[in-house]
Amino acid sequence: MAVEHIKHWKIGDVEVARIVEVNAFEDNIAMLLKDETAQFVRQFKWLQPHFATPEGLMKLSFQCFALRSRGRSMMIDTCIGADRKREFDVFCNLRTTFLADLAAAGFPPAKIDTVLCTHLHFDHVGWNTMLVDGRWVPTFPQARYLFGKAEFDHWVHLRNTGGYHDLEHLHDAIDPVIAAGLADFIPAEFRVTDEVSLFPTPGHTPGHVSVHIRSRGEEAVITGDMMHHPIQLTDPERHANFDMDKPQGALTRRAFVERFENSRVLIIGSHFCDPTSGWIVRDGQSWKLRTE
Ligand SMILES: [Zn+2]
Repeated sequence: MAVEHIKHWKIGDVEVARIVEVNAFEDNIAMLLKDETAQFVRQFKWLQPHFATPEGLMKLSFQCFALRSRGRSMMIDTCIGADRKREFDVFCNLRTTFLADLAAAGFPPAKIDTVLCTHLHFDHVGWNTMLVDGRWVPTFPQARYLFGKAEFDHWVHLRNTGGYHDLEHLHDAIDPVIAAGLADFIPAEFRVTDEVSLFPTPGHTPGHVSVHIRSRGEEAVITGDMMHHPIQLTDPERHANFDMDKPQGALTRRAFVERFENSRVLIIGSHFCDPTSGWIVRDGQSWKLRTE
């Protein structure tokens, strides 16, 4: 099934574009939820066809978002990037149409003035840089790159202590931005424009933030990795393998779901496959994502 890499939303006056880098990657749910089975996935019929296969594999996309607000053009995360050496083969040496897609979406890289990373995992920082003549250089040379101070400090600590198995992305996607003098370190609560602000959603990583868009009475939230897959709505407090602090991730998800359930706030999931967005609705003792 061919899915367009690009999708647009309008939240009041704010333009949002999604650029997919790796589409609808299928994997066992046990990757995300320990010991869980395809049968568990299959019971939630509403996950098909967008978020799960009929066989019960979960589907995840790797994508980022570009926003225009008050004349500013910003990236919310920057995907995996090209030419990378990564832990999993699927992410190594990617050659995609990402930069062309970004321009086609109305966001040419040279015009981006702000890059915001919800957190500093490899699949959210990759296109911060690109390889030019053997050197990693900022992809968005006109931009200020906003890194959460707590998040950045955490990764520096991990590097200094050897506390994490996969730190290569700091070398190729973070350090060159700092060396170029383009980085600003911000608190977890931060206003980018009067329409776009960040709020802390810790757990997946300590300094993780989500993005709140409010314009002309319309609202949306870009989740980041506070939640990876809509199946987590069925039991937000269930621990997720990908969270660095699992109890905190569970608390954050529960609070998030209760805050936005049955509201008009559009939830845009950073790893949710097309259509990528929906509304959280209560479903008995549980919740689900309504996509239309
Ligand atoms: Zn991610």
